[in-house]
Amino acid sequence: MRYIKPHYYDEFNCVAENCPDTCCAGWQIVIDEEALEKYGDVKGEFGERLKASIDWNEGTFRQNNRRCCFLNERNLCDLYTQLGEEALCKTCTMYPRHVEEFADLREYSLSLSCPAAAKIILECQEPTRFSVYENDEPDELEEEFEDFDYLMFTQLEDGREVIFNILQNRQMDMRKRMALVLEMAKKMQSCVDEQRLFDVDEVIEAYRKQQGEAESLSEENMAGKTYFSRCKEFSLLLRLERLRDEWSQLLESAWKILYEKGEKDYLVLKEEFDKEVGYQSKQKEAWSVLAEQLMMFFVYTYFCGAVYDDQIYSKMALAVFCTEWIEELVMARWALQGKNITKEDYIQISYRLAREIEHSDVNLNLLEEWLEKEMEER
Ligand code: SF4
Repeated sequence: MRYIKPHYYDEFNCVAENCPDTCCAGWQIVIDEEALEKYGDVKGEFGERLKASIDWNEGTFRQNNRRCCFLNERNLCDLYTQLGEEALCKTCTMYPRHVEEFADLREYSLSLSCPAAAKIILECQEPTRFSVYENDEPDELEEEFEDFDYLMFTQLEDGREVIFNILQNRQMDMRKRMALVLEMAKKMQSCVDEQRLFDVDEVIEAYRKQQGEAESLSEENMAGKTYFSRCKEFSLLLRLERLRDEWSQLLESAWKILYEKGEKDYLVLKEEFDKEVGYQSKQKEAWSVLAEQLMMFFVYTYFCGAVYDDQIYSKMALAVFCTEWIEELVMARWALQGKNITKEDYIQISYRLAREIEHSDVNLNLLEEWLEKEMEER
């Protein structure tokens, strides 16, 4: 079995009661079969509380005001306190560690939705590296991968390596890097859609050779997005299922600040923001590193998942859109705070967006559908 993890993976430590948020609120925690069986056997007063706190039909913990019913007022877990770490179900033990399974490969990542993980990811200045290691462990899930598409997966892995190199080319403007990888994913998608599978390799090689330049970019892709496309894209966020109240407030206030007053005001604000904080400012390198780390995170976590649904373009578009949405939300926060912003704001906005998107299948599906349609229209 082969394993991959980003270099910062082992730096994670839960900050528990010092967490500015909690992972035990706002979403349903699904309990695995083994833990359910264990919980059914717990005796005494706590055993009674435990049994009454589980929705046995759904296999989830019940909630009070959208908080897990074991989460106490100090944001600590009563189940952990009473029964110890080994009593936690798989979801609670793993989070924010995440694993993607591909035949004989396991890819580990930290979820951006955890504040402590988001801090590690976004405070990292050096380019993300990945460690790969192998062992002789047999693949317990071998049967599940009988129909695994090895050819496509190899192409996705090769393509992702080129994409990583482009995204980490700090000589190139970050917006160009994003446009370039989106264009590459679009070309790979066209090959797959037209069943020209061997042409995917040619696309990958072409981008591998010119990854130091952005000559291949069409003018349309290099032109910054218009006010109208920003509005259209942001309004999609407003239409998604919302898991947290604070997310609703963040979105609605950003909409008012950025888009409600019209194109002229938006462009003035954007220009000022870019010069003060963003891609045209004195700290443009630091601003670009944040976008690079976000893009690396989204691409590493999701891109190769296209082996299961053939949706290469929408995986890449999701990475680009999420990064740009975070940048737009940061701009709104900057305007709201009297033209002032900190890295903590950036981290907070990133984990809030990740919470709403990464942990809602409804939202992920809606976004992918919209992005697929968007590609057809382009
Ligand atoms: S969100 Fe992250 S840091 Fe906060 S309690 Fe959960 S695992 Fe710990």
